[in-house]
Amino acid sequence: MTKTWFVTGASSGLGRMMTEKLLDRGDRVIGAARRTDALSDLASAHADRLPVVTLDMIDKAAVRAAIDQAFERAGRIDVVVSNAGYGLFGAAEELGDEQIDRQLATNLTGSIQLIRASLPHLRAQGGGRIVQVSSEGGQIAYPGFSLYHASKWGIEGFVEAVAQEVGPFGIDFIIAEPGPTGTNFGAALDRAEPSGIYEKTPAGEVRRLIAGGEFVIRGDAANTVDALIEAADLDHPPFRL
Ligand code: NDP
Repeated sequence: MTKTWFVTGASSGLGRMMTEKLLDRGDRVIGAARRTDALSDLASAHADRLPVVTLDMIDKAAVRAAIDQAFERAGRIDVVVSNAGYGLFGAAEELGDEQIDRQLATNLTGSIQLIRASLPHLRAQGGGRIVQVSSEGGQIAYPGFSLYHASKWGIEGFVEAVAQEVGPFGIDFIIAEPGPTGTNFGAALDRAEPSGIYEKTPAGEVRRLIAGGEFVIRGDAANTVDALIEAADLDHPPFRL
């Protein structure tokens, strides 16, 4: 049976790859991003099955409006994929206030708003699924990525609580924690200008390891997307992937 998905960050990387795979198998995807022109090739190839929404996750009112309209037009959305995000790199004390605000507004508050806006619609239709793309960086921390980790640990805490609130309404969640994959993530990285103090930090050393070790999602972007879609198709998917 075909499904309808709402995917943020559909213009690039994991979101775009997921959108392509879902369209290829006959599903319908509402694809959201700022650079919707990057989806024009897919949209013209699958005109009726890829409505595209121009959306900046920082704009809370726009996120709510996009979700309200999407549910209204689609009638039903089976899976909402909260995927849009980027990384901020630099020593914590060297990051600019605006850089910090933008990182949290995109990865954390933007995802929170997307999920909050989706809940009444998912309840009204009798249930549904939300996939939150976090990161292995939602469980472990690398020096230089303090605010990225704050955003991903933060969204995981939010999802853990909300999943318990809305489970009785038939709404379930998957938290996906990919390791490094080859997308535009590196090129899109926002970097603080280093003044020199960061050179004293042991870059790349992992400070905290998840109990039990291995992450399920490892490998390239295609494997990651396959694992995500496979889990989202299960009747009872794992809460963490
Ligand atoms: P990409 O940079 O390739 O894609 C990021 C997507 O997020 C783009 O489609 C971009 O669209 C969208 N985006 C960024 N900021 C905003 C915004 N303000 N409003 C709306 N959309 C936005 O990276 P990935 O595909 O790798 O990243 C996808 C997710 O995967 C992120 O949440 C990331 O943290 C996570 N992740 C990635 C890993 C990796 O190694 N690649 C590892 C672990 C997690 P546009 O610019 O058009 O708005």
